[in-house]
Amino acid sequence: MRTITHLVVHCTATPHKTTIASIKRYWKQALGWKSVGYHKIIEANGNIVQLAPDSAITNGVRGHNSTSLHVSYIGGKDTDDRTIGQRQAIAGVLLEWLKKYPTARICGHRDFPGVNKACPQFSAEKEYGYLYLTAAGKPPQVG
Ligand SMILES: [Zn+2]
Repeated sequence: MRTITHLVVHCTATPHKTTIASIKRYWKQALGWKSVGYHKIIEANGNIVQLAPDSAITNGVRGHNSTSLHVSYIGGKDTDDRTIGQRQAIAGVLLEWLKKYPTARICGHRDFPGVNKACPQFSAEKEYGYLYLTAAGKPPQVG
């Protein structure tokens, strides 16, 4: 099993209605990627689609992929437009991963040094950091 240090949240920077097929086509044909960009992608209705197993290395953040797992919501073109379903689904994916990789850190693509984009349009650790406690079986701290 590879060592996972980062659970990285992304946006596709496309409209909500963008299809997964078209995103995969873009990676392959426009960018020439041999692997997909994320392990899981979340549609506007909150449906989670797995694109690659945890064991696979995907193309989320250049230079950090061998130690990262990547999840993206479809959206985030100019702003944080996550639907309620997407907000909940991201939490579900991160919680599942934290239970498997309890020492990994939640972060956004934009939190890596040298990254010059807003992806995923919000602070992932600020919003989902409470999951560290949930994954460890502790109640969230209030206040
Ligand atoms: Zn990204």
